[in-house]
Amino acid sequence: MRKKERFEKVISWFQANMPVAETELKYNSPYELLVAVILSAQCTDKRVNMITPPFFERFPDAETLAASGTEEILEYIKSCSYPNNKAKHLSGMARTLLEEFNGEVPSDTTLLQKLPGVGRKTANVIASVVFDLPALAVDTHVFRVSKRIGLTTNAKTPLETVRQLLKHIPVELIPKAHHWLILHGRYVCVARKPKCNICGLVPWCRYFAETNKL
Ligand code: SF4
Repeated sequence: MRKKERFEKVISWFQANMPVAETELKYNSPYELLVAVILSAQCTDKRVNMITPPFFERFPDAETLAASGTEEILEYIKSCSYPNNKAKHLSGMARTLLEEFNGEVPSDTTLLQKLPGVGRKTANVIASVVFDLPALAVDTHVFRVSKRIGLTTNAKTPLETVRQLLKHIPVELIPKAHHWLILHGRYVCVARKPKCNICGLVPWCRYFAETNKL
Protein backbone atom coordinates (compact mmCIF):
# COMPACT_ATOMS: atom_id res chain seq x y z
CA MET A 1 0.00 0.00 0.00
CA ARG A 2 1.30 3.45 -0.89
CA LYS A 3 2.06 5.70 2.03
CA LYS A 4 -0.32 8.44 0.90
CA GLU A 5 -3.20 5.99 0.76
CA ARG A 6 -2.31 4.51 4.15
CA PHE A 7 -2.34 7.97 5.75
CA GLU A 8 -5.70 8.80 4.13
CA LYS A 9 -7.32 5.58 5.35
CA VAL A 10 -5.88 5.84 8.85
CA ILE A 11 -6.85 9.52 9.24
CA SER A 12 -10.39 8.78 7.99
CA TRP A 13 -10.70 5.93 10.46
CA PHE A 14 -9.62 8.11 13.37
CA GLN A 15 -11.93 10.92 12.28
CA ALA A 16 -14.88 8.53 12.21
CA ASN A 17 -14.02 6.58 15.34
CA MET A 18 -12.28 9.08 17.58
CA PRO A 19 -13.85 12.44 16.70
CA VAL A 20 -12.99 13.81 20.13
CA ALA A 21 -9.34 13.30 21.02
CA GLU A 22 -7.96 15.34 23.86
CA THR A 23 -5.35 15.16 26.56
CA GLU A 24 -6.40 13.14 29.59
CA LEU A 25 -4.61 15.56 31.90
CA LYS A 26 -7.04 17.76 33.84
CA TYR A 27 -6.41 21.50 33.70
CA ASN A 28 -8.22 24.84 33.59
CA SER A 29 -5.56 27.22 32.34
CA PRO A 30 -2.29 27.24 30.36
CA TYR A 31 -0.41 27.47 33.68
CA GLU A 32 -2.18 24.38 35.01
CA LEU A 33 -1.50 22.37 31.84
CA LEU A 34 2.15 23.39 31.95
CA VAL A 35 2.44 22.11 35.53
CA ALA A 36 0.58 18.90 34.65
CA VAL A 37 2.75 18.18 31.59
CA ILE A 38 5.96 18.75 33.58
CA LEU A 39 4.66 16.32 36.22
CA SER A 40 3.64 13.77 33.58
CA ALA A 41 7.20 12.97 32.41
CA GLN A 42 7.74 9.26 33.18
CA CYS A 43 4.48 9.29 35.16
CA THR A 44 0.92 8.31 34.26
CA ASP A 45 -1.77 10.91 33.56
CA LYS A 46 -3.91 9.15 36.16
CA ARG A 47 -1.32 9.75 38.87
CA VAL A 48 -0.81 13.37 37.78
CA ASN A 49 -4.58 13.95 37.93
CA MET A 50 -4.53 12.77 41.54
CA ILE A 51 -1.70 15.14 42.43
CA THR A 52 -2.87 18.33 40.72
CA PRO A 53 -6.16 19.22 42.53
CA PRO A 54 -4.52 19.88 45.95
CA PHE A 55 -1.46 21.29 44.16
CA PHE A 56 -3.55 23.90 42.29
CA GLU A 57 -5.46 24.73 45.43
CA ARG A 58 -2.19 25.62 47.17
CA PHE A 59 -0.41 27.05 44.08
CA PRO A 60 -3.19 28.53 41.89
CA ASP A 61 -0.80 30.58 39.75
CA ALA A 62 2.83 31.21 38.90
CA GLU A 63 3.13 33.93 41.58
CA THR A 64 2.20 31.59 44.43
CA LEU A 65 4.39 28.83 43.06
CA ALA A 66 7.38 31.13 42.61
CA ALA A 67 7.01 32.43 46.15
CA SER A 68 7.21 28.96 47.72
CA GLY A 69 10.24 26.79 48.37
CA THR A 70 11.06 23.54 46.59
CA GLU A 71 10.59 21.64 49.86
CA GLU A 72 6.98 22.67 50.11
CA ILE A 73 6.41 21.88 46.41
CA LEU A 74 7.96 18.47 47.00
CA GLU A 75 5.39 17.69 49.68
CA TYR A 76 2.61 18.02 47.11
CA ILE A 77 4.23 15.98 44.33
CA LYS A 78 6.11 13.27 46.20
CA SER A 79 3.93 10.44 44.85
CA CYS A 80 5.10 11.32 41.32
CA SER A 81 8.24 9.92 39.66
CA TYR A 82 11.43 12.02 40.04
CA PRO A 83 9.80 14.37 42.58
CA ASN A 84 13.02 16.19 43.55
CA ASN A 85 13.88 17.19 40.00
CA LYS A 86 10.30 18.09 39.21
CA ALA A 87 10.01 20.28 42.32
CA LYS A 88 13.10 22.20 41.20
CA HIS A 89 11.78 22.48 37.65
CA LEU A 90 8.36 23.71 38.77
CA SER A 91 9.91 26.33 41.01
CA GLY A 92 12.28 27.50 38.26
CA MET A 93 9.49 27.44 35.68
CA ALA A 94 7.29 29.69 37.83
CA ARG A 95 10.09 32.18 38.45
CA THR A 96 11.06 32.31 34.76
CA LEU A 97 7.42 32.76 33.76
CA LEU A 98 7.19 35.79 36.03
CA GLU A 99 10.58 37.29 35.24
CA GLU A 100 10.64 36.80 31.48
CA PHE A 101 7.04 36.36 30.38
CA ASN A 102 5.02 38.52 32.74
CA GLY A 103 3.42 35.41 34.21
CA GLU A 104 1.87 34.40 30.85
CA VAL A 105 2.63 31.03 29.24
CA PRO A 106 4.12 31.75 25.78
CA SER A 107 2.79 29.96 22.69
CA ASP A 108 6.10 29.85 20.81
CA THR A 109 7.89 26.52 21.21
CA THR A 110 11.36 28.14 21.30
CA LEU A 111 10.30 30.50 24.09
CA LEU A 112 8.58 27.69 25.96
CA GLN A 113 11.85 25.76 26.02
CA LYS A 114 13.44 28.58 28.04
CA LEU A 115 11.35 27.40 30.98
CA PRO A 116 13.04 24.91 33.32
CA GLY A 117 11.57 21.42 32.91
CA VAL A 118 10.26 22.18 29.41
CA GLY A 119 11.94 20.32 26.56
CA ARG A 120 10.88 20.09 22.93
CA LYS A 121 8.20 17.49 23.60
CA THR A 122 6.54 19.44 26.43
CA ALA A 123 6.74 22.67 24.41
CA ASN A 124 4.98 20.98 21.50
CA VAL A 125 2.25 19.61 23.78
CA ILE A 126 1.57 23.10 25.20
CA ALA A 127 1.61 24.76 21.76
CA SER A 128 -0.71 22.14 20.35
CA VAL A 129 -3.16 21.66 23.24
CA VAL A 130 -3.40 25.21 24.59
CA PHE A 131 -2.85 27.24 21.47
CA ASP A 132 -4.05 24.75 18.84
CA LEU A 133 -0.84 25.25 16.86
CA PRO A 134 0.39 22.59 14.42
CA ALA A 135 3.10 21.25 16.74
CA LEU A 136 3.49 17.51 16.98
CA ALA A 137 4.97 16.06 20.14
CA VAL A 138 6.41 12.58 19.70
CA ASP A 139 6.27 10.49 22.85
CA THR A 140 6.78 6.77 23.15
CA HIS A 141 3.20 6.01 22.00
CA VAL A 142 3.33 8.27 18.93
CA PHE A 143 6.72 6.81 17.99
CA ARG A 144 5.64 3.16 18.37
CA VAL A 145 2.15 3.40 16.86
CA SER A 146 3.28 5.41 13.80
CA LYS A 147 5.99 2.86 13.18
CA ARG A 148 3.71 -0.16 13.59
CA ILE A 149 0.94 1.16 11.37
CA GLY A 150 3.50 2.09 8.75
CA LEU A 151 3.04 5.86 8.87
CA THR A 152 6.80 6.10 9.32
CA THR A 153 9.56 4.04 7.73
CA ASN A 154 12.92 3.47 9.42
CA ALA A 155 12.45 6.50 11.68
CA LYS A 156 14.99 6.08 14.45
CA THR A 157 14.40 9.32 16.35
CA PRO A 158 11.42 11.45 17.43
CA LEU A 159 12.60 14.19 15.06
CA GLU A 160 12.59 11.84 12.08
CA THR A 161 9.14 10.59 13.12
CA VAL A 162 7.83 14.16 13.21
CA ARG A 163 9.30 14.91 9.78
CA GLN A 164 7.63 11.90 8.20
CA LEU A 165 4.27 12.49 9.90
CA LEU A 166 4.18 16.19 9.03
CA LYS A 167 4.63 15.37 5.36
CA HIS A 168 1.27 13.61 5.18
CA ILE A 169 -0.98 14.93 7.95
CA PRO A 170 -3.00 18.03 7.00
CA VAL A 171 -1.87 20.94 9.14
CA GLU A 172 -5.31 21.53 10.71
CA LEU A 173 -5.41 17.91 11.94
CA ILE A 174 -1.98 17.86 13.57
CA PRO A 175 -3.11 18.72 17.15
CA LYS A 176 -5.75 15.99 16.92
CA ALA A 177 -3.44 13.44 15.28
CA HIS A 178 -1.12 13.75 18.27
CA HIS A 179 -3.91 12.59 20.60
CA TRP A 180 -5.21 9.95 18.20
CA LEU A 181 -1.83 8.23 18.22
CA ILE A 182 -1.30 8.64 21.97
CA LEU A 183 -4.72 7.30 22.93
CA HIS A 184 -4.51 4.44 20.44
CA GLY A 185 -1.10 3.53 21.84
CA ARG A 186 -2.28 3.78 25.42
CA TYR A 187 -5.37 1.59 25.08
CA VAL A 188 -5.16 -0.57 21.92
CA CYS A 189 -1.76 -0.63 20.24
CA VAL A 190 -0.07 -1.16 23.59
CA ALA A 191 3.68 -1.68 23.83
CA ARG A 192 4.00 -5.34 24.81
CA LYS A 193 1.16 -7.04 22.98
CA PRO A 194 -0.91 -4.88 20.66
CA LYS A 195 -4.62 -5.69 20.82
CA CYS A 196 -5.02 -6.26 17.08
CA ASN A 197 -8.15 -8.35 17.71
CA ILE A 198 -10.07 -5.21 18.72
CA CYS A 199 -8.28 -2.71 16.45
CA GLY A 200 -10.10 -1.05 13.57
CA LEU A 201 -6.85 -0.20 11.79
CA VAL A 202 -6.13 -3.82 10.85
CA PRO A 203 -6.84 -3.36 7.09
CA TRP A 204 -4.12 -0.70 6.75
CA CYS A 205 -1.60 -1.73 9.42
CA ARG A 206 1.84 -2.76 8.21
CA TYR A 207 2.71 -4.58 11.44
CA PHE A 208 -0.50 -6.63 11.30
CA ALA A 209 0.11 -7.53 7.64
CA GLU A 210 3.72 -8.51 8.33
CA THR A 211 3.05 -10.56 11.47
CA ASN A 212 0.12 -12.36 9.84
CA LYS A 213 1.96 -12.79 6.52
CA LEU A 214 -0.85 -11.11 4.57
S1 SF4 B 1 -3.54 -3.67 14.02
FE1 SF4 B 1 -2.37 -4.14 15.86
S2 SF4 B 1 -0.32 -3.32 15.50
FE2 SF4 B 1 -1.71 -2.39 14.00
S3 SF4 B 1 -2.36 -0.48 14.94
FE3 SF4 B 1 -3.87 -2.01 15.47
S4 SF4 B 1 -3.21 -2.81 17.44
FE4 SF4 B 1 -1.46 -1.73 16.54
